[in-house]
Amino acid sequence: RDLADLDAALIDCRACPRLVAWREKVAREKRAAFADWDYWGRPVPGFGPGDSRMLILGLAPAAHGANRTGRMFTGDQSGDVLFRALYDVGLASQPTVVSADDGMELFGVRMTAPVHCAPPQNKPTTTERDRCAHWLRAELDLLAPTVRSVMVLGGFGWQVGLRTFEELGWQIDRPRPKFGHGARTVIRRDDGAELTVFASYHVSQHNTFTGRLTPAMLRAVIVEAARYAGL
Ligand code: SF4
Repeated sequence: RDLADLDAALIDCRACPRLVAWREKVAREKRAAFADWDYWGRPVPGFGPGDSRMLILGLAPAAHGANRTGRMFTGDQSGDVLFRALYDVGLASQPTVVSADDGMELFGVRMTAPVHCAPPQNKPTTTERDRCAHWLRAELDLLAPTVRSVMVLGGFGWQVGLRTFEELGWQIDRPRPKFGHGARTVIRRDDGAELTVFASYHVSQHNTFTGRLTPAMLRAVIVEAARYAGL
């Protein structure tokens, strides 16, 4: 199967009772506030071409961002910052994002998450992460022929992402690489596949409003990850 088949199967997943209840509750209650929106309220698939050379790994969809629009990092200010940075370095077709049908294209980059449903407080449980891992495994397998670098956003995503990669058969250095803006590590699989994984502070409002993460800092990690990917 290809990525389109995978995404079509993913959006029907109801494996995590707590997350199914939460994503649907948010959608029900917030529909009134976003009256013009057909609130998504389902698992959010990865976004970007199937022959991408670079992967951006968040943690999980935001309750009122991707859970509303149905597209990764679309519909909240965190996503606005990320797409703007990708546009600035030539990896996205438009500087702004609005909705899943706004015409945005990514060039050589795919965005996804180890957990595909919005969790309460942005915190999936270990069980939920474990249950969702097979989707990331399948996505990585389909992207494996081309993908060479991964940019992980945020410390929690870094922990969850590396643990998931490890459980998917990737070898991670010991001691486990520490998260920090600009950190990087190389992970390998027995079949010879290799990925360079980069860390960036998350594009959360907390980080971008306080200046902890500036646009220049974000662009610097994107440019480095893109360079490793051959973009
Ligand atoms: Fe399915 Fe993943 Fe959503 Fe759980 S988090 S319901 S495994 S898509």
